[in-house]
Amino acid sequence: MKMNFATLTEWGIPESECPAVFAGPCSAETEEQVMQAALALDKLNVRIFRAGIWKPRTRPGAFEGVGDIGLPWLKRVKEETSMKVATEVASAAHVNQVLKNSIDVLWIGARTSANPFLVQEIADALHGRDVAVMIKNPINPDLGLWMGAIERIYKAGIRKIAAIHRGFSSYTKNRFRNQPEWQLPVDLKRQFPDLPLINDPSHIAGKRELIFDLCQKALDLNYDGLFIESHVDPDKAWSDARQQITPEQLGDMLNKLVLRKAQSLDEVFLHSIEELRAKIDKYDQDLIALLSERMLVAQTIGKYKKLHNITILQQDRWNQIMTKNITQGEQNGLSADFLTHVFKSIHEESINHQTQVMKGGY
Ligand code: PEP
Ligand code: MN
Repeated sequence: MKMNFATLTEWGIPESECPAVFAGPCSAETEEQVMQAALALDKLNVRIFRAGIWKPRTRPGAFEGVGDIGLPWLKRVKEETSMKVATEVASAAHVNQVLKNSIDVLWIGARTSANPFLVQEIADALHGRDVAVMIKNPINPDLGLWMGAIERIYKAGIRKIAAIHRGFSSYTKNRFRNQPEWQLPVDLKRQFPDLPLINDPSHIAGKRELIFDLCQKALDLNYDGLFIESHVDPDKAWSDARQQITPEQLGDMLNKLVLRKAQSLDEVFLHSIEELRAKIDKYDQDLIALLSERMLVAQTIGKYKKLHNITILQQDRWNQIMTKNITQGEQNGLSADFLTHVFKSIHEESINHQTQVMKGGY
């Protein structure tokens, strides 16, 4: 399906203010807290004010949002500042409330975009309405599910659509609250080249110290906007306290971010890049040739294993390969993470080739 998405400029965000900044507290808590954040953020380059009214909490008992009473607070933000306002919807009932209260931008949260029934219900409630809708990635790293949610909203006649990359859940917790898996949004952009893509560093990071680097990375990957949680007193926030920053910290951060152009027409630059890219292409060809030779050897090993009725997986040998190559690779400036990925894939491919040998395919 050929999709014609509106640009952020068509949302009313001037081109000079792109990449666009969307900011506001995780949750609307009180009218005063909302207005304090809004007035401070309005002085920065923030064009769209965010605040959750209905909060999807993983476990019951946490603060689940102020509900409908928060809608007039957002209306006030719209009237008293130059910003548009955005909130999260998770059902047709939420959509109807939001439309009645002239909220400009809706977003579908990560737990909701993982559920096609709910996304369809929201799409039906939005049918033919002129609002902007941002669709967060589903909590699980499933590109099809994210695309499906976008397609459902598009089919309801909405053209102002953006995707928000907020990271993906994982069982093991490490540096990030939600793993960024940058390849996924990059793949989404390949599928929908005109779709505005916005980064939500707050929910990826889970802690404020990591937000700056994530923003810079998103800008370097050509994102169209940043969606950042900002609260006047972050440590006292009723939800997501660790990841919120003050409007002042946000202002400092925005000043420090380096904005780079997507392209340059400078002759010297273009020439140097071309030369370097030719080198990269040559290395890629060499890598393919080497990997293919390596697989041929693996196949021959497979033939011996078959002859002697030996299993394909030889755990000790595999452990040795990993340890040796990670150590050597690290000595050559490659990260253990990268080496693990590469050698796991190579091993998997070898196993596939040897499986074919066992089946008599080679
Ligand atoms: C939010 O933006 O406050 C939120 C609940 O986000 P997510 O759906 O990404 O968890
Ligand atoms: Mn939040």
